[in-house]
Amino acid sequence: MAAYSQISTTRPARSLSTIPPSQEETPLTQTTQRILVTGACGQIGSELIPVLRQRYGDTNVVATDIRPPEADCLKDQGPFELLNVCDRARMDDIIARYAIDTVYHMAAILSATGEENPTLAWDVNILGLVNVLEIARQRKLVRVFCPSSIAVFGPDTPHDCAPQTTILTPTTMYGVTKVTGELLGEYYVHRFGLDIRGVRYPGIISSETLPGGGTTDYAVDIFYHALKYKSYSCFVRSDTVLPMMYMPDCVKATMDLMDADFNSLRSHCNFNLAGMSFSVEELANEIQKHIPDFVCDYAPDFRQAIADSWPQTIDDSPARTQWGWRPRHDLKSMTRDMLEKLRPRLT
Ligand code: NAD
Repeated sequence: MAAYSQISTTRPARSLSTIPPSQEETPLTQTTQRILVTGACGQIGSELIPVLRQRYGDTNVVATDIRPPEADCLKDQGPFELLNVCDRARMDDIIARYAIDTVYHMAAILSATGEENPTLAWDVNILGLVNVLEIARQRKLVRVFCPSSIAVFGPDTPHDCAPQTTILTPTTMYGVTKVTGELLGEYYVHRFGLDIRGVRYPGIISSETLPGGGTTDYAVDIFYHALKYKSYSCFVRSDTVLPMMYMPDCVKATMDLMDADFNSLRSHCNFNLAGMSFSVEELANEIQKHIPDFVCDYAPDFRQAIADSWPQTIDDSPARTQWGWRPRHDLKSMTRDMLEKLRPRLT
């Protein structure tokens, strides 16, 4: 994993004098942070935590989730607390107890699960976010990361090179919550002067934790099935093209945006982020270069309509110009790396 540069101190870290002495397990400097991660057991949180702990120190990164972690490293290498993000009192207690100044708010209900239970998606994604933002306001937290998604887009958005500022008419409850979340984040920036940041992640492909019920999950499932069974039945059509990103780029983008000088950002919570775009057929062909007898067939379900409502490619020029975003992985390098990582565990 690449070494990440130290954080910018455009907004000064909270003064040590505001932290109760009993909480000072680890001495803080201006460039260290006390971080809380919600949804830490998820696909992204579980890979973000080790990078944050390596950089800021194990005890300075508190992992939380509504469920206990499966990976030992999440609880053995640093603090872990059970937290339902809808429970503001408990969130506030944990933030006070650990003298948290920075939150990475990763807890969410994703697109496919959200369509099965839209009110749960609204409650977790909106109530959870409002709780984070209100505690950030009341406790004057230094910085909050609130991810958005390509699910903010809808059928009225240009399908090719979707601009950052464009028509947002999502067809899923997940997308509705992400549009609302972006607006809420910007509101807290402008109304209360908070430092809230977020990107619109594309579909994230990773080898450590299985994805949690999104429409782009097929781009991860296909690797597991290719290695284990040499066949995969995909829930979207072969010609479905969606924006995707490999996890190392996802973690890098998250860290890079959180490092950026706040004054150089012209928007805050809605940065488009592109990595790679490919059809399922192109992905299957790339896997076949490594596993020649792999076969993929197609049985589209309700997720096809969601996929069809999202753009195929994304214009991420604001992220590139305002905070220097550059992806490192393409379809070829991601496929090779995924197979190298998964092969010893699955075959
Ligand atoms: P995930 O589904 O893998 O993980 C979410 C985590 O949140 C899970 O561990 C779950 O247990 C936890 N959670 C659910 N309800 C909770 C609650 N009430 N309180 C506390 N925790 C709760 O999701 P992810 O892929 O890690 O996504 C992280 C963020 O990135 C989310 O905001 C998501 O919308 C966004 N995102 C992800 C992708 C992707 O492809 N993974 C794409 C776009 C945006």
